[in-house]
Amino acid sequence: MLDKRKFYINGEWVDPVKKNDFEVINPCNEDPCAIISLGSKDDTDNAVKAAKTAFESFKETSKEERLDLLEKLLAIYKRRFGEMAEAISLEMGAPMDWATDVQTASGQAHLEDFIIRLKEFEFDEHFDEKSNNHIYYEPIGVCGLITPWNWPINQIALKVVPAFATGCTMILKPSEIAPISAMLFAEMIDEVGFPKGVFNLVNGDGVGVGTQISSHPDIDMVSFTGSTRAGRLISKNAAETIKRVCLELGGKGGNIVFADSYKNAVRDGIRNVMSNSGQSCDAPTRMLVEKSIYQRAVDEAVDEANKIGVDQASKKGDHIGPVISKTQYDKIINLIESGIKEGATLAAGGPELPNGLNKGYFIKPTIFTNVTNEMRIAKEEIFGPVLSIIPFETEDEAVNIVNDTSYGLGNYLQTDDREKAHRVSKKLRSGCVYINGNAADAGTPFGGYRQSGNGREGGVWGLTEYLEVKTVTGWKN
Ligand code: NAD
Repeated sequence: MLDKRKFYINGEWVDPVKKNDFEVINPCNEDPCAIISLGSKDDTDNAVKAAKTAFESFKETSKEERLDLLEKLLAIYKRRFGEMAEAISLEMGAPMDWATDVQTASGQAHLEDFIIRLKEFEFDEHFDEKSNNHIYYEPIGVCGLITPWNWPINQIALKVVPAFATGCTMILKPSEIAPISAMLFAEMIDEVGFPKGVFNLVNGDGVGVGTQISSHPDIDMVSFTGSTRAGRLISKNAAETIKRVCLELGGKGGNIVFADSYKNAVRDGIRNVMSNSGQSCDAPTRMLVEKSIYQRAVDEAVDEANKIGVDQASKKGDHIGPVISKTQYDKIINLIESGIKEGATLAAGGPELPNGLNKGYFIKPTIFTNVTNEMRIAKEEIFGPVLSIIPFETEDEAVNIVNDTSYGLGNYLQTDDREKAHRVSKKLRSGCVYINGNAADAGTPFGGYRQSGNGREGGVWGLTEYLEVKTVTGWKN
């Protein structure tokens, strides 16, 4: 079992002030795979103090100095890429191919893109030629970064890299359920030699270190990715100190499949939901199908779901692994059972364990048909390999059903009609709309409307979240 009980504070690996061991569970076999410490207020305070002191000099560093350190971090990340994939596979139960080609690759892609954006970014700009005013973009200060377990290094890279790029200092609290990749990332930062106190890592749970970060008077900003439930608590805890709070929260994406969709639209939609064992915030978990192709779509969806294997992380191939924890497993099974009770038709999968897997948190790719938007399975974020199929007759009806949710993160639409695609994409109330199976390019903004959050990560938008804007008047005379 890995011993990961130290924290990274002020450029050193240190013991927690008070011993408080916590076991990290391998979701493939339910056995502990690592031991970490849950931090106390003293640990959080030590990290904040280090970050606050470091900010005084780090905010004065040049873009070139920071670029140089980020280039070094990228080189180390590439060298230790395989170790990162193994860490993610272990902590999440993600199959190795997925952990390598998608999860670990996402961290590298963000690092590469932020290096490009930082090179292009002007921290210092004139308002306009005739104006006597000047604008400065300045680092906001000490940042608390709180991340989830489902895309662990993706989320960490989306926060740590822009915070660093803009001259901020930080305390990272990764998910206590999947902290191993975060600690490896901290090892890489240590190897680069970031200035002492610029980056700090304290493990802990939400009630402890998470709450201490959100309410800390010396933290200027919290960037949080996780559930809407925790986002609300963080906002409340942060209110007293008026810190900036950037939230990236849950989702309940709709995927409108029009009758004129491309050939594999339904099958691709199923793969998209089930990948990562259904644990993606922007997964298109409600598939809306135009009535004229409904039966064909259901048949294809069921066939595709039944083709997706469920197996151990160590096996090669494009199967899915377990869900992250016993808590998530129980929640997902409970929601599957609620779908059956509320009268939806179970068309594939179901609550029983997949064949041959009697240990671990494995769930079969599950599809419900005859779902209405009032059912719990259509309303709540399930965060497992479960999809609801809902029929529609008109474009307006489809848009209304998709928008009839408290969330607004990622929505999808499939049609051959470009004009319709553009029209519908404008009507969907979400931060991202994906047309015909296309993915967003690196450097585009990612974030949600409504209860999916208020921040935008990635690209230049990801940099500006960490910046204050200053107007200086009387610049010329
Ligand atoms: P979670 O909210 O339970 O935990 C996320 C992080 O917040 C963890 O580090 C946890 O320890 C911490 N936390 C929990 N309660 C807290 C509190 N009261 N104060 C401060 N910190 C607290 O979420 P999770 O289960 O780890 O992740 C899954 C959720 O994350 C899903 O809802 C998913 O949609 C969302 N998510 C959103 C995005 C996005 O970009 N919008 C990306 C990935 C995941």
